[in-house]
Amino acid sequence: MEVRANSMAIRVEVDDATGRATGVRYVRERDGAERLQRATVVAVCGYSIESPRLLLNSASRRFPNGLCNNDDQVGRYVMVQGATQTAGRYPDEVRMYKAPPPEVSSEVFYETDASRGFARGFSIQTVAPLPIGWAEHVLAEGHWGRALREYMRDYNHWATVGVLNELLPQPDNRVTLADENDQHGMPVARFDYSLCENDSANMAYSAKVIRDIVLASGAQDVLTIQRFAHLVGGCRMGTDPSNSVISSDHQSWAVPNLFVADGSACPTQGSANPALTIMALASRLAERLVTRTVDPAGRSRDREPAHSARSTR
Ligand SMILES: Cc1cc2nc3c(=O)[nH]c(=O)nc-3n(C[C@H](O)[C@H](O)[C@H](O)COP(=O)(O)OP(=O)(O)OC[C@H]3O[C@@H](n4cnc5c(N)ncnc54)[C@H](O)[C@@H]3O)c2cc1C
Repeated sequence: MEVRANSMAIRVEVDDATGRATGVRYVRERDGAERLQRATVVAVCGYSIESPRLLLNSASRRFPNGLCNNDDQVGRYVMVQGATQTAGRYPDEVRMYKAPPPEVSSEVFYETDASRGFARGFSIQTVAPLPIGWAEHVLAEGHWGRALREYMRDYNHWATVGVLNELLPQPDNRVTLADENDQHGMPVARFDYSLCENDSANMAYSAKVIRDIVLASGAQDVLTIQRFAHLVGGCRMGTDPSNSVISSDHQSWAVPNLFVADGSACPTQGSANPALTIMALASRLAERLVTRTVDPAGRSRDREPAHSARSTR
């Protein structure tokens, strides 16, 4: 294996006649030289903003609106997690920085509970902002100058609890190309994102739950910061080209030897930290490519074609 460090992929090249990916065009940062790496299989793994950006920038005659984007799915359904944190001040020293975050977590509120009035839920975790994160936390409640200094000096008496809310996949939360280019002449990504009512209700509910927990544990003072974490989606996995970019084998619907293997593949967010899932999926794809369970020349070998699966029902 060879790693071409400090290189920026700018296009996935496709043969318009065969519809197959032929390689990746990239720029070497050290001298700005443009190179084409030919390939029999291309796996895109730039994450939720950069993978859609790369595909959208790889338009061709066959894919005039961006590679794999004839169904207008590339860049859609990008999700973040709500990540509100509430800190409590305790009379004794806690020294939260000594514990790994999250040291303790709860999934009691993870699944939908209709009585709460919104779909899905959130996890709760102990977290431990280090001093710069702690300053942001304090600033979020408007403390500045002398008050900020006092809160910073008091750091060792504070402990923090956070949530990760599962926010819903929305087609209009998406990456597109902006009218501005980077140093390589590649359009930068534009990201549009807004919360739906369900997201706001989930976040408001969870913020109250962690505030209640911190107060019930004897905190003398509380500080809350509303924040977001963990992108996923953008080239989502699905069952149909009309609502997704790749199959459950990460194989793009449009180009059989093009795969997407990063967080952009996730169709939902969940309330857990995503990195282990992303790594497990990438490892699964690597295994399937090596064992040829998934075939870059055509469909996956352990799957029946959709029409024959349907005819057996
Ligand atoms: C501050 C921070 C803390 C986090 N903490 C946690 C945590 O505690 N737990 C957890 O589960 N997750 C955490 N995450 C999220 C986690 O890091 C991501 O979900 C995960 O790394 C995504 O994996 P990925 O492979 O999809 O993308 P990445 O890990 O982002 O890898 C994509 C790579 O592609 C490169 N790239 C992009 N475009 C191009 C291009 N055109 N050409 C060449 N290279 C390109 C990028 O430089 C990058 O190296 C955290 C994220 C941040 C920012």
